[in-house]
Formats: sequence, C-alpha cells, structure tokens
Amino acid sequence: MAVAEFDTPELKEYPVIPHLQKDAMAHSRPFEAKADFQEKLGFPGGLIDNWQQVAIEKMGELNKKYRSLQVYLDSCVKCGACTDKCHYYLGTSDPKNMPVARQDLYRKIYRRYFTISGKLFPKLVGAEDLTEEVLEDWYSYFHQCSQCRRCSVYCPYGIDTAEISMAAREVMDTVGKGQKYCNEIIGKAQTIGNNLGLPEPALVNTLEGLEEDVEEETGVKVRFPVDEKGAEVLLITPSADFFAEPHIDGLIGYAKVFHQAKISWTLSSFASEAANFGMFIGSYENMQKLALRIRQAAIDLGVKRIVFGECGHAWRVAYSFLNTLAGPFDFLDQNYPIPQHICELTHGLMKEGKLTLDPSRNDDMVVTYHDSCNVARASRMGDKPGGQFEIPREIIKAVCNNYVDMPSHSIKEGTYCCGGGGGLLTDDLIELRVKGALPRMEALKNVVDEYGVTHMAAICAICKSQFSKVFPYYNFSMDQIISLHQLVSNAIVLQPEGNASEGSDDESQVEAA
Ligand code: SF4
Ligand code: SF4
Repeated sequence: MAVAEFDTPELKEYPVIPHLQKDAMAHSRPFEAKADFQEKLGFPGGLIDNWQQVAIEKMGELNKKYRSLQVYLDSCVKCGACTDKCHYYLGTSDPKNMPVARQDLYRKIYRRYFTISGKLFPKLVGAEDLTEEVLEDWYSYFHQCSQCRRCSVYCPYGIDTAEISMAAREVMDTVGKGQKYCNEIIGKAQTIGNNLGLPEPALVNTLEGLEEDVEEETGVKVRFPVDEKGAEVLLITPSADFFAEPHIDGLIGYAKVFHQAKISWTLSSFASEAANFGMFIGSYENMQKLALRIRQAAIDLGVKRIVFGECGHAWRVAYSFLNTLAGPFDFLDQNYPIPQHICELTHGLMKEGKLTLDPSRNDDMVVTYHDSCNVARASRMGDKPGGQFEIPREIIKAVCNNYVDMPSHSIKEGTYCCGGGGGLLTDDLIELRVKGALPRMEALKNVVDEYGVTHMAAICAICKSQFSKVFPYYNFSMDQIISLHQLVSNAIVLQPEGNASEGSDDESQVEAA
C-alpha cells in the first residue's frame, strides 16, 4: 500500500472545531499482520471462513469478561460532549473520529446481537448486521484511536472509548485480522525480550559503548550493568532507550542518578523491554506473557525493587496491571512502590538532597512539558492525587531555570495524545500521525511564540519518537523533543571517583531513598 499524499494541517492560534468531512480518513489503515505474526500470538493466520460467528461469540465473551465494556455500550446518551475532544477528529475532520461515532461502530453490532430491541427492531435503535463493510470500517477507525482516554474525561458517564477500541482489536485478532506493527512487535518481545529484536550480545555491546562515551564526556565511570545478580534495582525501560535520540540521553540520565545515589542497579537481557503492546490489541494473555518475563527476570536476578524508565503506556500497564498480571511481588522490598517509576525515584532522591544539581546547565533552553496521555489519565505517581502531573514538573523545575506550561486545556488530565500512541507509531499511518498531532502542535506553537520555548520534554518513548518524526511537518526541528532525564543528566554534577562531596556516600541514606 502506498502512503497517501496529504497536506499538513494549518496551525491556528486557538483550537478550532473543524467542519465535518465525511470519510476523510476512510483510506487510512495499517498494514495487516502476516500469518506468521498472527499465529505466534495464538491468532488465526488470516480471516477465517466463519468470521462473523466467531466475532459475535468473542463479543459475547468480552461482555461477560469486562463488565465496564457492556456498561459503556449501554450508557451513552448521545449528549455530544465528547465529539470535539479527540485529537484525531480535530486533526482530520472525519466524523467517524468523534469518540461517540467510533464507539457506535462497535455499539451498533452489539445492539444487533446482544439487545432485544436490536434483534427485533434493528433500524429503530441503530443496530446493524456484522458485514464485511463493517469489519473494514472497524479496521480503519479502531486504528485511528490511540486509546488515550481524553474523551472519557469529558463524558458525563465516563465512557472510555479506549476500552471499546481494545475490544474491537481483540475481536479482529480473534478472527484473523490483526495489525502488522503491533503483532510483529509483541512476537519479538515475547521471544527475544524486546521490541527491537535486540539479542543479548548486541545489548551488552551497546551499553559498553555507552559507558565509554559517558566516561569520555564526564571523566566518571558511570555503569550500565546488564544481568548483574544481587543488584538492588531492576530497571525495565523501553528498548528505544538503548539506541535512539532523544531516548538514549534519558537512559544516561537514569544511570547518572543511580550512580550518584550509589544505588546498585541492572538491566535484564531477558526482560529488556518496558513496552507492552499486548494492551494495545486488548489481549490479556499476550500482555501477561510480557509481564511474566519481568517477574522472572526479577526473581532470577534477586533484585529488591523494580523501576520503570520513561514509557507512557508501559507505566499504564505497570501501574494498573502488573500486580494482577504477574504478582504477587512478595519477594521484593515492600518499603518501595511495586513497581516504581524512575521519576518517583529521582524525585525522592532530589527531595532528600541526594542529588547534586546545577540547573544553570540547562540555561540554553526554555522548556515545556508534554504529559503523556497514558501517564496522565491511566496511572498515578507518588502518594498524592495528581502526582503524575506534579512529580515530573517538580523534577524539571529543579534541573532547569526556564520552564513554561502549555495552555491549560492541553495539559495534565486534558493533555492531548502525541498522535502516535496505541500501536499507531508506524509509517503506514503517517498521515494519521501528522494530523493527530495537530492539537499538541498548536499548544506548543503558542508557548514558542509567546514565551520563547525551545524544547519540549516528555517521559514516553512513543511520544518522543512520534514528535521527532512529526515536528518537521510543523516547522519545528526534530531535536526540540527531549527526554526528561536528559535534563537531569545535563544538570547532575558528577565528581570523579573518591571525591566525598558527590551525592551520598552513606549507604544507610541510600537505603532510605
Ligand atoms: S480514546 Fe483518545 S484517540 Fe480514542 S477516541 Fe477517545 S480521544 Fe480519541
Ligand atoms: S460524552 Fe459520553 S454520553 Fe455523551 S455522546 Fe460522548 S460517549 Fe456518549
């Protein structure tokens, strides 16, 4: 499939609700997964003959399994409050990208086969048969939802389109119509341990090179250990952190934090991936397989804590589901959150005065912060409500003298998805990604013009990759997106070995962190 030519939307000063353009994005659809990728995950290799019957049975199974799903399908009153809340609708003008319309693609089939009114008077209640045309619409528009939950914040009933989109993808996988990008990646993570398919020797090699680079730059031997038994912390981080800009600068930041706080840590070559694309396709079983690798690595390495690096959806899975999927983690130190986010760790050390920071080292930047949708609306941090908004901001303000927030409608619980989340970060969906980024780009442009913002920090691997790719479409440069821990890395003052003034040299203080 050739990638369609398209125009980048124009940036407006204030958000404008677009005029409807029917079927404007009907052509947008990701590549389908080949038989090989499907079968590895336990799905049929291609569309099966009796797909309608199997799909309806699966929908029935999901209704029973996820009570919330049926409540969402039954409770929409068509009030319209969600219609202009989706970044994909705002960027594409396609009415089927209004959250309620997206839900209705599923709801009309649900009504036809699972409600009495839909069985008896389908036309009266908007019920429809499950046809091939409907399946094609599902494939297109449920791959135009990044499962970001923004619409649910504005829905008076809290209806979560993300769950409906996950259910639709699960049904499609079950009948053999899976998406290439997600399913290929899940297969790699389940067999090799990370999304990139990076085997252990390549990982070790990369980290050794990084160790040398950091030593050359700082004069300090900051370690990047792999598979070190008995380390205190197992760091689970997105594999993008191992090789790509700006991710790798974040990894350097984590390593410097561990180094200065004298906390022993390790990566695992067996579980070398924080991302868990099983969630994007709504597959509990596939999500669990990846989560169990983390549990196994923690047991094998004998660590006391599990810390997650900067990855939005990985933190959503870790915070919301890890204990259910792979617990109990009774073998870990119960004095720490299980799991813990790297921002919680850095923030805690900062508050205890265990990090030496010089924010003037970031004086060449005016920074704003993009709340990752998964962190903002599907998780928390720290022990207070809203910690997921405040902790990253407090870190940035401690390491950076120039900080500005973007307009209030576009941050915290109202944040816009970057446009590439939910398993959509693939070049076959580039038009959708560029258009879906529009609301964030407008908010960014606002603070660039008004306050001279030069960089946007993020704590999500998908956001960072997405922005690196789409920034040039909107006349920003790729390097204007940075890792939050890159700012920490710049500001942290490391002293050569043996200098007692660096961080804490008191092991008991480290334990207390
Ligand atoms: S979950 Fe996000 S991407 Fe999906 S419909 Fe709602 S606002 Fe749009
Ligand atoms: S805001 Fe909620 S109830 Fe209103 S139309 Fe949207 S999904 Fe339905």
